[in-house]
Amino acid sequence: MHAPQRFDRARLGLAAWAAVMALAAFLPVPEFWITLANYIGLYSLVALGLVLLTGIAGMTSFGQAAFVGLGAYASAVLTTTYEASPWIGLIAGLAIVVLAACALGAITMRLSGHYLPLGTIAWGLSLFYLFGNLEVLKKFDGITGIPAINLFGFSLQSGRHIYLLIWFTVALAVLAMTNLLDSRTGRTIRALKGGVVMAESCGVNTARTKLLAFVLAAVLAGLSGWLYAHLQRAVNPTPFGLNAGIGYLFMAVVGGSGHVWGALVGAALMTLLGDWLQELLPRLFGQNGNFEVIVSGMLLIILLQRAPGGLWPMLVTAWRWLLRGMPRGMLRRGSTNSAAATHPLATPPAGMRSRTAPQRLPQRDKASPGATVLDVRQARKTFGGLIAVNDVSFSLQAGEILGLIGPNGAGKSTMFNLVSGVLPLTGGEVHFMGQRVDGKPSRWMARAGMARTFQHVRLMPSMSVIENVTIGAHLRGRKGWLAGVLRLNLAEEAGLFEEARKQLERVGLAGYELREAGSLALGQQRILEIARALACDPTLLLLDEPAAGLRHQEKQALAAVLKQLSREGVSVLLVEHDMDFVMGLVDRLVVMDFGTRIAEGAPGTVRNNPAVIEAYLGGVE
Ligand code: ADP
Ligand code: MG
Repeated sequence: MHAPQRFDRARLGLAAWAAVMALAAFLPVPEFWITLANYIGLYSLVALGLVLLTGIAGMTSFGQAAFVGLGAYASAVLTTTYEASPWIGLIAGLAIVVLAACALGAITMRLSGHYLPLGTIAWGLSLFYLFGNLEVLKKFDGITGIPAINLFGFSLQSGRHIYLLIWFTVALAVLAMTNLLDSRTGRTIRALKGGVVMAESCGVNTARTKLLAFVLAAVLAGLSGWLYAHLQRAVNPTPFGLNAGIGYLFMAVVGGSGHVWGALVGAALMTLLGDWLQELLPRLFGQNGNFEVIVSGMLLIILLQRAPGGLWPMLVTAWRWLLRGMPRGMLRRGSTNSAAATHPLATPPAGMRSRTAPQRLPQRDKASPGATVLDVRQARKTFGGLIAVNDVSFSLQAGEILGLIGPNGAGKSTMFNLVSGVLPLTGGEVHFMGQRVDGKPSRWMARAGMARTFQHVRLMPSMSVIENVTIGAHLRGRKGWLAGVLRLNLAEEAGLFEEARKQLERVGLAGYELREAGSLALGQQRILEIARALACDPTLLLLDEPAAGLRHQEKQALAAVLKQLSREGVSVLLVEHDMDFVMGLVDRLVVMDFGTRIAEGAPGTVRNNPAVIEAYLGGVE
């Protein structure tokens, strides 16, 4: 469908921009501009980390300035007191940053809601006062006499020299981040904001993914600190305090924290605005003072109101508008992706563009015919005084389709969550493929071969349809974040996307690959979830009300897919309200009412069971 393109527009844009930035160093640009550009570059690195951590992964941090400080101080001490090379300072500094981030991340990433940002403020403040109170760091006076960086025998003494290194680093960081986000690990990072339960059900260890995002953001901050120390040639605690931490967060948010380029736009805007106001306001008011802080604060509030998605999405919309030369998509307030919502994504993921032959994904051995796949024994779940599931037992054979039905509130979804490891059991046992699995987390179940959909659809609405499906195939890939950054993952990515494409075709969503998942009709979103579950290559498929919201033809198509799966040896457990759909599809039914199993058997016999009729009629009354 898509011709393989080696360089997409995003990467071409990056190259063009890098060329312009590099050229500036050789033109007679005033020194003052170079200084400003250097600071914008340093801030961009930190803001880039915050885009990853806060904008994309959804974890707000006010403490990034402390990591800048760690990187700066580590190199400052090593290069002055121990006369080490700045490059040793870089390695040691980043090592310290990684260790500190692992320790701090392990504690703070567990916090949720308001506690997480508060936690980052706590260690941000602690590290600031640590810098200011340690004798080895010369307390609040700071360290001076830091040497310049030596690169290929060339000493980067002046701002103009280090400018090239700073912006080379920024360009690399932008490229690395772009690659990372478009990789197997990157998609799990993008799923952290709002998709933790979904990702875990696909086998993703979200706690580890959060920590990774945190450490990578800290490394970018530490890198910025190292460059800062050798640009300034002196460090003191002031630029590493909470104020700076808040400033960095502002840059990311103002620029557009959901976008890599937002970091650069935000850093540039805040730096230039601050500088300009500092010039302008004293002249305007006729007296000296820090008026720029007050005025830029007010401007920020207005900006956040007008463009909650940040400046970058607005710039993109404006740019498209200019290109088309038509007022088709007026600048939309707060639009993050509104323009893309009804159009396919501009740049297909690397896994779809790659010319590399798709790698074959591992496949699970299917359960042998007649084997018991799932065995639920006396499962029980109470919520306080309410018995939602009351000692229910049933089992499921390989290739069997079992329907779990019952009136609203019967306990079907709860039963489902017990089987899939989303909820812990109060009593009883669940055995899967001959192994006791109750008490295991849902990502463990996914690894064992259970895949599920959710009654209330859980997908990443701003990700493309096909990327959502590749998350389902997560466990069938191996490549980690570094392979993603270095693009050593193309064969595997091609394999993952090929698998996702096949599953989408199978469920009838071919052609929708590059749509934003959130733009699909609800019925299609449900089907998308089934494709995602199938991409996991499951032994057991758990479907919670898959036919809800589907049109008649879609239901028939879905039934055909499920029957085909059953012939292939996949077992299916489904909760469903639509009796016509269920009766024609399932091999066996288990009927629940008030948490209790009231009937079990073939659809024909269950239909005439007096207890079942009573339960359903009772439900109507
Ligand atoms: P069904 O899917 O059959 O409609 P559920 O399994 O969702 O039913 O719910 C069964 C019963 O358990 C209902 O009475 C519901 O209110 C209750 N319930 C479900 N989840 C919870 C929960 N997390 N906390 C408290 N009560 C719950
Ligand atoms: Mg339910």
